[in-house]
Amino acid sequence: MNRLFSVSFLLFPALLCVSCSRGIPAQRGFALGTFCSVNLFEAGTRTEYSAIFAELNRIQQVMAFTAASGGAEGGTALDLINRNAGIRAVPAPEELLDVLERARYYAELSGGAFDPTVGPLVRLWDIGGKTPRVPGAAEIQQALSLVDWRDLLIDRAAGTAFLRRRGQSLDLGAIAKGYAADQAAALLRPPGNRRAIIDLGGNIFALGERRRGENWRIGVQDPLEERGSYLGVLGVKNRSVVTSGVYERYFEEGGLRYHHILSTKNGYPVRNGLLSVTIIAGRSIDADALSTVVFALGLEKGLALVESLPDTEAVFVREDRTVILSSTAPFTLEGGNYRLVPPFTPPRRPAE
Ligand code: ADP
Ligand code: MG
Repeated sequence: MNRLFSVSFLLFPALLCVSCSRGIPAQRGFALGTFCSVNLFEAGTRTEYSAIFAELNRIQQVMAFTAASGGAEGGTALDLINRNAGIRAVPAPEELLDVLERARYYAELSGGAFDPTVGPLVRLWDIGGKTPRVPGAAEIQQALSLVDWRDLLIDRAAGTAFLRRRGQSLDLGAIAKGYAADQAAALLRPPGNRRAIIDLGGNIFALGERRRGENWRIGVQDPLEERGSYLGVLGVKNRSVVTSGVYERYFEEGGLRYHHILSTKNGYPVRNGLLSVTIIAGRSIDADALSTVVFALGLEKGLALVESLPDTEAVFVREDRTVILSSTAPFTLEGGNYRLVPPFTPPRRPAE
């Protein structure tokens, strides 16, 4: 639906124009279910741009949950695991096992609030798909009963993955774009000293620095305004910035908005007073997963988690138009529509 427009972070025009004078301009394309834009600035070659978009398409062929709408059988490696749920372990590419392991790690860390086996629920709601609807209570219970990350068995020695029960299915929608952004960044040579912006539908990797000594300026979308309206700016170097929010994908029925981050407790879209969570981290797979993890956990638990992780910051935007930051988030509020407020519990650092 409005999936096609799920760009939660738009770069400031000044930043995009740096590339206009030299080299090949930023390239855009549709991959991983979203608009992707890559800007390699002065050093970008056609070969590099093509390699990056080929890589994004390749990852889609491995990790997309193509059976999401209408139960059509898809052909990705992920679909194969899903089709064999409760039947047998199937061989899977090593990189898929890596992503599944990372997803399982975040499932455990969040006590199951983030869960890669959320597939049956995602399919039932079909938010962002062709036939979204509010399911009945019994259907929700049935789908929920199939959601349990502990039923995902990964056998590294055999190179296989297995879902224990029939009807279970994996959905990597909350983590695959982050993995893809990391892979795209890794293609750039020489590694380490390139500047580039990789934007996979708002899942951003800002590589290197904007100019020598200068931060990239990444706008944080105002969840209540049109796309491209920012409530503030993040100043970052060599970081990934990813947002999960109620405005990314949703449908409306009976005057209510149903968004795409689902509670593994009650089976409905998470409702906890948050409008969006933005994560800043060194790796995009972590920023992507954590944006969903932290949104699902809510402000208090989410903030405590972020504070316990190295190299990770967060910006929370709440329905009451307040903004809450983790202890060293590089964020500046702009405009007068929101208020910065301190955490309602002091940030906790883990015991040494
Ligand atoms: P976006 O798709 O806009 O990048 P997210 O990274 O927050 O947003 O991912 C949301 C997607 O993750 C949903 O569309 C769905 O595919 C999946 N998902 C929904 N709820 C959960 C959950 N509780 N745990 C893990 N994945 C989820
Ligand atoms: Mg995510």
